[in-house]
Amino acid sequence: MRSLFNLPPLVEQQQIPAQPQVGDAPVPGSPVSATGTGTPAAPVSFQRGQSVGFFTDTTLCIGCKACEVACKEWNQLPAELDAKHFRLSGNSYDNTVALSGTTYRHVKFVEQFELSNPNRVGGRWLMMSDVCKHCVQAGCLEVCPTGAITRTEFDTVYIQKDVCNGCRYCVAGCPYGVIEMDQDGVAGKCTFCYDRLQAGLTPACAQACPTASIQFGPVSELQQRADARLLQLQQAGRTQARLYGRDEAMLGGLNSFYLLEDTPSTYGLPEAPHLPSRNLPATGGLGLVAAVLAGIAGVLAMRRRRIDSVEAAEEAR
Ligand code: SF4
Ligand code: SF4
Repeated sequence: MRSLFNLPPLVEQQQIPAQPQVGDAPVPGSPVSATGTGTPAAPVSFQRGQSVGFFTDTTLCIGCKACEVACKEWNQLPAELDAKHFRLSGNSYDNTVALSGTTYRHVKFVEQFELSNPNRVGGRWLMMSDVCKHCVQAGCLEVCPTGAITRTEFDTVYIQKDVCNGCRYCVAGCPYGVIEMDQDGVAGKCTFCYDRLQAGLTPACAQACPTASIQFGPVSELQQRADARLLQLQQAGRTQARLYGRDEAMLGGLNSFYLLEDTPSTYGLPEAPHLPSRNLPATGGLGLVAAVLAGIAGVLAMRRRRIDSVEAAEEAR
């Protein structure tokens, strides 16, 4: 039987560089003390002009939702008290259900149990802390007509709320369904804790995660760490482990990328996300055909008018 707890020995995990260490002193002012997790991530060195990101190792997630709470707390996001969100879903132990304009982190629970087995023995429970992927080629940024969505000096994707006009183009433009409107009718999603980055701090979610499932740092370092972790898991016999969004093939690379234990669709992720502009060549081709047809129709109409006027002149003679 597969278990959440059949991980390689902890000693091996600790050999991965720059992992947070249990017992590290809490960082003053971080959300860690408020969430009570007490095992903050180690300080990470990064600078402006460098691409930073998240490497989320879903094999380490325990579903505690400390990341969700830390995100809400740091970004002062309201609880969703409407009937859609403030309820038990009835089909999952996950009671926050989805990302939204005021929930920038969401820990998905993938619960796979035989309904015929009342004791839920032999099932599988996968967890994944989902967030904006801060795509290198970002559909939301591509379609925003006001310039409200920008790329920061840390290569993250940021919404300037005071510039957003609430048109919702970005909602349709994101291939991951990340963006929604907030309570003020403007677009909301993960800011990558832009204010914390400017102060040299680790984003709140990665700071709070007690298991290092969410790891923060320069993307190039995270990629090396992810490669090492993947190799470790595969050598331990977990052959379904794979990286998602680590490479340029997916939207130029996702600055927030994942280690999964099954197919992307198992976690509700698209296998091959694409940009809205991918549809342009087809539309552009149709436009060209329409323009040529309109031109031919115009020439024929002019010719007809000329013939009519010649015939009218001959009749008048
Ligand atoms: S995941 Fe969606 S919202 Fe985030 S950067 Fe990519 S396209 Fe934009
Ligand atoms: S990612 Fe970390 S903080 Fe978030 S639920 Fe999983 S273990 Fe908890």
